[in-house]
Formats: sequence, C-alpha cells, structure tokens
Amino acid sequence: MNSTWSGIVTAKWVALFIAWMFVLTGFVVVAPSVAGDLTKADIERRFKPPLHVGEKLKDIAAWPLTSELTPQGGPVGYVFESIDLAPIPGFEGTPFNLLIALGADGKFIDVEVLRQHEPVFLGGLGPVPLLEFVKQYANKSLKQEISVSSVYGSTRGGGGGNRVVLDGVAKATASVRIVNQTVLAASLAVARAKLGFADSGSRGPPAVPKAGAFEALDLAALEQRGYLQRVRFTNADIEKLFAGTDGAGADEEALLKPDELFVEFYVAYLNAPIIGRNLLDVSSWNKLKAYLPEGQSAYWVATRGRFGLVDENFVPGTPPPRLVLMQSGLPIELRDSNRDYARTVPLPELKTALILGSPAQAGLDPGQPMEFQFTITRAKGMILPSITHKTVTVGYAAPTALFDFPPRPPPEWLLAWQGRWPDLAIIGTALALLTLVLLRPQWIVMRPRRLLLFRTGFLIFTLVYIGWYAQGQLSIVQITGAIKSVGAGGGLKSFLYDPISLLLIVFTLLTLVVWGRGTFCGWLCPFGALQELVALLARALRIPQWRMPVTLATLLSRSRYMVLALLVGSAAIMPAAAEKLVEVEPFKTAITVGFQREWPFLLWAVGLLVAGLFVYKFFCRFICPLGAALTLGGKLRRWNWLPRIEACGKPCQKCRHACEYDAIARDGAIRYDECFQCLDCVEIYEDPGRCAPKLLYARKGRTVPIRELRLPSGNSR
Ligand code: SF4
Ligand code: SF4
Repeated sequence: MNSTWSGIVTAKWVALFIAWMFVLTGFVVVAPSVAGDLTKADIERRFKPPLHVGEKLKDIAAWPLTSELTPQGGPVGYVFESIDLAPIPGFEGTPFNLLIALGADGKFIDVEVLRQHEPVFLGGLGPVPLLEFVKQYANKSLKQEISVSSVYGSTRGGGGGNRVVLDGVAKATASVRIVNQTVLAASLAVARAKLGFADSGSRGPPAVPKAGAFEALDLAALEQRGYLQRVRFTNADIEKLFAGTDGAGADEEALLKPDELFVEFYVAYLNAPIIGRNLLDVSSWNKLKAYLPEGQSAYWVATRGRFGLVDENFVPGTPPPRLVLMQSGLPIELRDSNRDYARTVPLPELKTALILGSPAQAGLDPGQPMEFQFTITRAKGMILPSITHKTVTVGYAAPTALFDFPPRPPPEWLLAWQGRWPDLAIIGTALALLTLVLLRPQWIVMRPRRLLLFRTGFLIFTLVYIGWYAQGQLSIVQITGAIKSVGAGGGLKSFLYDPISLLLIVFTLLTLVVWGRGTFCGWLCPFGALQELVALLARALRIPQWRMPVTLATLLSRSRYMVLALLVGSAAIMPAAAEKLVEVEPFKTAITVGFQREWPFLLWAVGLLVAGLFVYKFFCRFICPLGAALTLGGKLRRWNWLPRIEACGKPCQKCRHACEYDAIARDGAIRYDECFQCLDCVEIYEDPGRCAPKLLYARKGRTVPIRELRLPSGNSR
C-alpha cells in the first residue's frame, strides 16, 4: 500500500470512527435521567417501630417519619433518595444515590449508600471506605458547616464551633467531596421545604448587628436613612390589584373613597440599637435584648389604615397568617414574639403592630435584602362567597453599615484546591519546565546523557509524584464520564473537585493543539512512564527486544481504536458492562491503588508490564483506549514541530531506525499519531556527528534545506 493510499484510508477510517463516537454520544444525550426507585416498603424495612414511615410526599420526594413516642408531634424526620433532589454526577458521569434520613431538628439520623458508580470505589479501594465515610454523618447537624478534610484520610484542624470536618478517604478525596455536596444539597432541599431552614450555607454565615452608638432619630430620619421602610397603598391601588378577578368591586368603601388610605406598612429591624432604641422605649428595648436568643432576628411590623396583620382569631406567639417573609426566593419562619412594648418615636394611630422574630436556625440573614409579603383577601357574595387573595410586597434591606459580615466559607471545590496548592505548585512548575524543553529542545538534546537524565528523572517524577502520590492518572473513564454527565445535563463541575486531574487535563488539551498527543503520553502519563522505566530495565538486563515489522505494528496499533469504540459504546448503551470493561486500563491497579488489588487485576497489570519487557511500550501502542482518544484529539495539531530536513528519509533512515515507537515514516515524515515526543530524533538531528546529511551539507558549506513546518490546511498528518 503506497503512502498516499494509506493516508486516504486512514483519514476515512478516522472520520468514520469520529462519526461513530458522535452517534454514541447522541445515545448518551437522550438517555433518561436517573431517579430514585425505592418504595415505602423498602424504607419500612430500614426504620422499625417506634418509627413509622408515612406516604411519599407529593411536593417533594421524601417520606415523613413519625414516632410512637411523640404521637402529636408531627414528623420526627424525613427519608429521601439524594438522586431525586441533588443528582450531582461523579467522575464516572453518574450521580451517587444515597438514602438520607434527616431529623426534624436538622440532625442526620443515617446516610446509606444505595448506588454508586465511582471507579475508585467499584474496583480499586472497593466500596468499604465509602460506606465508612458516610457513617460520619450520623448525629452531625445540617445547621453546621460540614466539609471534608483536605488531608487524605485524616481530619486537619478539626471542627470546632459550628464547623465539622469529616475525614476524607485516601486516594478518593475528590469523590467524597462530591458525596458531601450531594448529602448537603439534597438535605437542604428537604430542610427548606419541610423544616423551615434556609440555605445559609450558600450565602455564608448571617450578618451580625454591630453594637453601634445610639443617636435619637425621629420617624422621618429613620425612614430617610433606610432604617425603617414605609409603603402606602390607597383603596384605588388595591382595587387595581383585584382587577379582572372575582374580588374586583367587592370592596364598596374602596369604590366610594378611592384616594383614601387602605394600608400603610411599616417594617424595621429591631436588633440594631439605632433602630430598636429609637422605636422602643429604653425599658422595652432592654427587655427585648435580654429576651432575644442568640442569632434570632426581630422585626417591628405595623400597619395603619383599614388592613390589619391579624384578625380576632389570631393566637399570640404564632406566625401571623397574612404575612410571609421571603429571602432569596425561600420562605422563612417569622412568628409573633408575644411581647408588650412601649414606643418612643411618635407615630400616627396604628391598626396593628407586632414584634416578630425569626429563629437562628430559620437561616434568615438580616444583612441581606428580604421581602415581607402581605396577603389581602376579598370575598364576593354572601352564600358560598368567592374568595380572592392578592399579595402586596414590601421590600426591606437594612443598611449594610449596621452589620459585621463574617467571612463566607469557601465552597467545597475551592477547599479542594486550597488543600492541594503545594501539589499544584510542584506539578505546575514541572509542566512549565516541560513546556520550555519542548519549545527549545536544543539545550537538552545537545548532550545525549543530559537528555537521558532529564527524561528518566521526569518519568520517575511522573510515576511517583503525579501518579502514586498526587493521584493524577488520567483515564478513559474521565472522557466517558464527561460525555455521560453532559448528556444527562449534569455539567462538568465534578472536575473542579479534582484539581490535579483538571490541571493535567487542561495542559493536555492545550498541548494537543500545539504538539499532539505525545506530550501527555510521552511525559505525563504515570502508567506510560512505568512502562518506559520497565523498558529501561529490560535494556539494562539485556532482555532481547522484539521489534515487530512496521506493517504489523501499524496494523496492531489500530486495535486501540476498537477498544476505545467498545468502551464508549458500552458506556452509552450498557453502563454496567462499561464499568467492567474499563478495567482494560491497568491504571487503577498499577497507579491508583499501587498494586494492592485482587489477583485477576494484578495479573493483568503485571502481564502488560511483562509484555513491555519484550515489546517496547506494548500497552500504549496496541491497547490503550485513552491513547487512542488522545490520538484523535491530536488531529487538531497545527504544526509539524519536530525538525526535518529534505534528506530525512531520502535517503537517510537513521532517525527512523532509532525511533522505538515506529513513529517515523519511510519518507522521513513524523507520524505524530504515534510519536511520544521522546526527542531521540531531535537529539540525532542536532548532533552533526550522527546526522550525516547535515555533516555533508556543512562540509560543502551549503545551507541545510529544512522541510516546511506549518501543516497545509486540512492536513493533520
Ligand atoms: S498510550 Fe495510554 S498508557 Fe500509554 S502513555 Fe498514552 S495514555 Fe498512558
Ligand atoms: S524518536 Fe520517534 S517518538 Fe521520539 S520524538 Fe522522534 S518521532 Fe517522536
């Protein structure tokens, strides 16, 4: 087969392959999203009397738990599947499913793993460390700030105060951070809907009112400084609100006196002394201060005119039925404090005035804007009247100068980055050094020993530091996981929890365009490095090497695309099978868990390394699906950056014979799909003693004719 024909066949083959990948991706995209599937009977098997499981709720996917011990007390907790409320994809692209039991007081009763597809917990470490991890939630409270230790497997800095730090899992810290996000997000959804907690964790700790100096202010000054909000509605305003409903025209007085006052609302934050002491007299203010539990916010809410906050049936100490407090789109508990008080500031005659409190656990942040929503009701008709409700909203934002704002806790993914900054700095420096070497390889190849030392040293760093220590082995699972996650609408956020892998992925994607797949495969893949070190050992032990005929090697190298197609296809159509098939990659065995696995996996990984003793980088060249995927990505490369002269291949074959990857074609062109960027050919090229054509040109005093480096458009050879 001549090279032109072979090129056409390869291009067609690759195009077909890519089309096939897209078809499979389509399957993934239309795949139904996952959901919980437990029944009430499944829950009852787990929670025995005195607990009882109620019917699954209609408004949120949760089962209420009641107790024989508190028959009148309502639910003592809720049980739910996390996948229904917080389907956050893991690294394999599928969300965890956890059964969470949350007490009515916000304490976790239990967290159980129902389903998980995380590669490290399927094989590798096995499921036990994950089961142990979730046990730590029992008796922790959702009102606490729960995060995962940045240090592998141990709690650093402990918790303390309102902070709880769970022990991470060595070699799986990123995965358990996603578990923690899942537990918290699902539980907060239930807490908001059923327990009256708001998600203070997303905004940080609530603002704390400053002590502040007192200054006597009248109503106008309180209003002008934004301490007190006053909003007025006339009869005509309210009539307009009911226009087009059954309530239109139902209020005769409104029709008769449209310009007269219907209601004037007053809202003020009492905890701030400059507001509280101006609105209440000294004795009432002191009593209120003494009464307020820590973290509780108190508001003075009053009305003037025809509308009252409560009617004659109102029970003091309960939430006023005509008022809802909203913050960040969430309803927040607000109830009458049932306190008598005297006012300081003179006001017109009021219809109703209450001091309302919001308990600390309700999650109200007094430093953030909020809305007081008042419900106005009209009835039309005497018998079976038609009732219409309308809401008017009074926004309130106490001035920020009244508060201290505690620092916000960083999000879980940022904690992951902070915890790994030394590793990121070291690996980042190594990547910068590698970039310099590949940009200007001359200084490293000018002495063969220098290249050998640098390359061997870098490969040892890749294997030991990036691979075994920092757990930075990229894998085909990350590609199939990303496709699945995007297809299911889960996005790629899970990558944020694994900063080392993300750094390597970004660097690999950038270098695919600049230098091709060889930057990762030749320098940054821990298992690739291990194979290369094994090959060095074989050379030192003088183990005979079998160098296949190039045609056979080229043919066999196609098999890695088949493996890739099989994996991507099964990930889309048969996910359970894909979880087994990915074990074709020995990365988990050799790198993630450092050969501590069951014997079939050990046999496979060690067998591949033994094969590598006789056939140079056997796994990389003939099996690796990740290498195949990167080769396809490497088609984006825009330069033929390895130096070539016209005499390469015509007639000189020296580099071709030296390249152990068979990455140089007979005509001297580099086959970048196969090139691992070992720089051996650059070393020959730069050494006039080994590159005979350059020596000849030099002797004749002629300039060496260099081959064009920029690729012709459309050619990604
Ligand atoms: S071919 Fe596979 S194992 Fe080899 S270096 Fe590339 S990714 Fe690593
Ligand atoms: S010797 Fe082969 S693998 Fe190494 S850089 Fe040259 S072409 Fe690439």
